[in-house]
Amino acid sequence: MEQTVEQKLDALVKLQVIDSKIDEIKKVRGDLPEEVRDIEDEIIGVETRIGKFNEDVKEFDNAISGYKIAIKDAEKLIKKYEEQQTNVRNNREFDAISKEVELQQLEIQLCDKKIKEAGFKIELKKKDVESTQLQLDTRKADLESKKGELDVIIAEGEGEIARLMKDRDVCAKNVDTRLFTSYTKLRNNYRNGLAVVIVKRDACGGCFNQVPPQRQAEIKDKKKIIVCEHCGRILAGVELIIVPEAPLKKGSALKEKELVKEA
Ligand SMILES: [Zn+2]
Repeated sequence: MEQTVEQKLDALVKLQVIDSKIDEIKKVRGDLPEEVRDIEDEIIGVETRIGKFNEDVKEFDNAISGYKIAIKDAEKLIKKYEEQQTNVRNNREFDAISKEVELQQLEIQLCDKKIKEAGFKIELKKKDVESTQLQLDTRKADLESKKGELDVIIAEGEGEIARLMKDRDVCAKNVDTRLFTSYTKLRNNYRNGLAVVIVKRDACGGCFNQVPPQRQAEIKDKKKIIVCEHCGRILAGVELIIVPEAPLKKGSALKEKELVKEA
């Protein structure tokens, strides 16, 4: 059966009340879930950095092995040249071979220098790894404690949320499909999670902008769904103004009754 606008609004208000209660419980968790996520991201970043450092170290190690092979090759060549020098026919040949030997000796010196440099870089990288590992251990400990904290808070609220979610499921079934879609969108758009509000002191209960009297009258009528023209929230009603209990003069009982009637 088609719901009346009033029934649709009632269903929405009930849903909003339940969702706000759930929001309230989740609010107790504060920034903890975000903090936990941040630390998790940070740990992944630091682990990647350590991985990169270790790769760098491996590369330097490989380079050192390459230089060591080059030195051995040069030494072999020198040996070969020196043997050739014993069989030269003239000074020119001897000098030419001496030049080759010199070149190989220079090559060896260069490789030695590069090995030293790479060794130095490896030391630096290892120090980086050490300090980064220390940082990682600290952050992992932080993560454990924050997670523990969060787990406790979640466990405490879980039962209550589960109960509310059941109520919510029942309630959501009564909400008009299209309204439910806009409700969900609105809730996602606003940090306070309020999609359905009432007019309080002539203002939208969500964005506090003025709601003109004509519009308030339409809202009270509940003949159609009215949304705030500023924030788009669904305006489900107008706050009942409670007349302050002014000290009434004796014999003004009639006036008191009239006030009640007006409210
Ligand atoms: Zn508004």
